[in-house]
Amino acid sequence: MPRTAIISDIHSNLHALTAVIEDVQQQLCSDLVCLGDTVGYNAYPRECLEYIRSLNCPVVRGNHDEEVLKGEYLKMNPVAKQAMEWTRQQLDESHIQWLARLPFVRLVRSQFVMVHATLDTPKNWFYILNASDATSSFNHQALPLCFHGHTHMPRVFYKDGPQVTENTESMAQLSAQGEVIISLQAGVKYFMNVGAVGQSRDRDPRASYAIFDSDAQTVTFRRVAYDVQAAHDAVLAVGLPPYLAERLLIGQ
Ligand code: ZN
Repeated sequence: MPRTAIISDIHSNLHALTAVIEDVQQQLCSDLVCLGDTVGYNAYPRECLEYIRSLNCPVVRGNHDEEVLKGEYLKMNPVAKQAMEWTRQQLDESHIQWLARLPFVRLVRSQFVMVHATLDTPKNWFYILNASDATSSFNHQALPLCFHGHTHMPRVFYKDGPQVTENTESMAQLSAQGEVIISLQAGVKYFMNVGAVGQSRDRDPRASYAIFDSDAQTVTFRRVAYDVQAAHDAVLAVGLPPYLAERLLIGQ
């Protein structure tokens, strides 16, 4: 079966991950890939890492994965740093070794490329916020399709000839409809952000992910409701900064 679920930015949110995996199964996906940032911010780093590791699926490295395995936290704000230090304490050597083996970029079945941030400088963790930001990454994208995460915002950028455009019209429907289907056009390149499973930042607290159907040549973006309150309570219960709990409730 040709349906691949693409998930990203789980960020130690086990409630969100569990709900998304249930939806992935209901949507009859045959495969799953993960675009990184499995850990950081929330209460279940160990459980989320072990779950993804047990799937034996393609995974790339995110900036939080990298920070926790280096143990430096140089580029982090104080709240993220506190969460990183706590996260590091929850992980054992086998978890760190798994993170250390994650590549920055991966090609999947010659069908698409996966990266956490950008293809032009995947180790620099730049944020793609608009079509002009996406241009450099497109210059390093050989295949028609690349998925990324990092900003926690589901977005579709495409390059038709020299022109890079963001499909804001279709994606504006995502929160209201809970699902948006993008049909891939031949000769057009796509650089798509699947949004975050575990820490939404587009004011819709639901988890976000996408499904690539290689037969139908479609990418379906989906929002999945989960027990946000329980994830919020778990963040407070382990003593992480309350701000990290509160932002889950409002999706910001
Ligand atoms: Zn992230």
